[in-house]
Amino acid sequence: KGKKQAKAANKEIKQTAVLGAGIMGGGIAYQSAVKGTPVVMKDIAQPALDLGLSEAAKILGKGMQRGKVDAAKMAATLNNIVPTLDYSAIKNADLVIEAVVENPKVKGIVLKETEQVVADDAIICSNTSTISINQLAENMEKPERFCGMHFFNPVHKMPLVEIIRGEKTSEETINTVVAATLKMGKTPIVVNDCPGFLVNRVLFPYFAGFSKLVLDGADFVAVDKVMEKIFGWPMGPAYLLDVVGMDTADHASSVMSDGIPERMQKIGDDPVTCLYKAERLGQKNGKGFYNFG
Ligand code: NAD
Repeated sequence: KGKKQAKAANKEIKQTAVLGAGIMGGGIAYQSAVKGTPVVMKDIAQPALDLGLSEAAKILGKGMQRGKVDAAKMAATLNNIVPTLDYSAIKNADLVIEAVVENPKVKGIVLKETEQVVADDAIICSNTSTISINQLAENMEKPERFCGMHFFNPVHKMPLVEIIRGEKTSEETINTVVAATLKMGKTPIVVNDCPGFLVNRVLFPYFAGFSKLVLDGADFVAVDKVMEKIFGWPMGPAYLLDVVGMDTADHASSVMSDGIPERMQKIGDDPVTCLYKAERLGQKNGKGFYNFG
């Protein structure tokens, strides 16, 4: 077993494929490309592919302004990203990262389709935030080559990647994904499959505590100031919820309430749900706890 693990850990990922060119898929494709691994970026809609590529160009443009990226690096990175609407284009990928919409049915179909196209020894990962890896693995032909690979938003800035081990995930798969994460310049942590994995398991009880404070009359701006100025956190909970998005946060918090009820405070009129219902989604539509210009 030891020998096998060492061999798998050295398996080089020569080509990545990312399914879904949205906020996360676009960011993951950029990260693979900038670290020198060619990536096929597949979506079902051309405008999504255009947006994914333009986001990558924007990040590189900012790097050029700051003198961190030159024209050759920019061209090489963009050349490393091959956008496609065609499944067959992912057939040579050694690592496929699924980042389509957070819907178990859609993900189930996409994962099945992926298995039909890629080589037998290709690794397949999901970037899901809230769906159980064991549940997604249920309908896969080879669940041993599947695990979670959970990036954080914005991908090019956030160092952490949670690698989620399902019950059937092989050690070879974990070792290869850890090595691929390091090659992408990120910090991997391996966790077992559970509601919220590690980060959201810590974060959502904190959000629930914050919501309770607000319902008890606390001023959210004051809470943010305390977390930023006294605790030294990069941002307080209200601002962070605006970054995450009220739709995403509302959904994730109900998953967490089902999964770890003992750690989630029951809150009547949760401010997050109220803002979501009032279509104040946060930064993504310009208004949440705060207004964005
Ligand atoms: P998004 O809505 O920005 O992008 C999803 C993309 O998937 C869209 O471009 C859509 O056209 C595409 N798509 C839908 N069906 C497809 C299919 N069958 N094949 C290929 N592409 C398809 O979503 P997002 O915010 O990038 O989230 C993607 C995944 O990442 C979700 O599972 C989400 O939970 C997870 N995630 C999101 C965040 C975040 O902060 N946004 C953070 C971590 C993880």
